[in-house]
Amino acid sequence: MSSKVTEFSPALHVKNSTPRRGTLFVVSSPSGGGKGTLIRRVLEVVPNLSYSVSFTTRAPRAGEINGREYFFISRDVFDEMEAGGEFLECACVHGNYYGTAKRQVIEETASGIDIVLEVDVQGAASVRQLLLDSVSIFILPPSYPVLRERLIARGTDTPEELEVRLRNAPEELRQYSKFDYVIFNDEVERASAQLASIIYAERARCARQENLVRQVIEKFKTAED
Ligand code: 5GP
Repeated sequence: MSSKVTEFSPALHVKNSTPRRGTLFVVSSPSGGGKGTLIRRVLEVVPNLSYSVSFTTRAPRAGEINGREYFFISRDVFDEMEAGGEFLECACVHGNYYGTAKRQVIEETASGIDIVLEVDVQGAASVRQLLLDSVSIFILPPSYPVLRERLIARGTDTPEELEVRLRNAPEELRQYSKFDYVIFNDEVERASAQLASIIYAERARCARQENLVRQVIEKFKTAED
């Protein structure tokens, strides 16, 4: 799941430039909050953006493909990976274990690609503590009935799983103020446009464009001589 669009990326194409490191866009919401849909849309339109495929002990749902939505692994393998320091962060969420692959994040950000991490609120808190170049975005479902309806319509959870996810939602919502941005997800079109806008705006920050700006200024100096 990575961006299909490839376009000119100035920071990567200025001659002799050191590409800027990619930024982590950490997206969280309660289960059923709609973050997956928003992320899929944004990956289709925003260039130079990748998706971090997590590892999980959860069983695959119908239609999920190993290596696309997740890498589905056993608890033993998960524990080995955790002990081996292979996760950037990991957490137990609604009774299953999830972890972000350190290697994918390091490799892609090192080559200047921004990467979306779709993680729960614990994962977002862990990434924040790592003090990496990251931006956190909370997706707010419009109401409890809408969240419930979405989870039921998704049809992927047993009644017990549904119950756990709904029970955990209020506590997850209370974490919103720790995030840099909140997107009210009442309308997919607008909410996904807002997510893309945040990514574009964050990319335009001075601090993230220093290499590029310095090189342009250098060229101005040469032209003056
Ligand atoms: P689901 O089972 O519905 O795919 O995901 C359950 C929750 O786990 C969601 O909130 C999802 O964002 C979160 N999640 C998925 N991957 C990771 C991960 O690598 N780390 C953490 N902390 N949470 C994750």
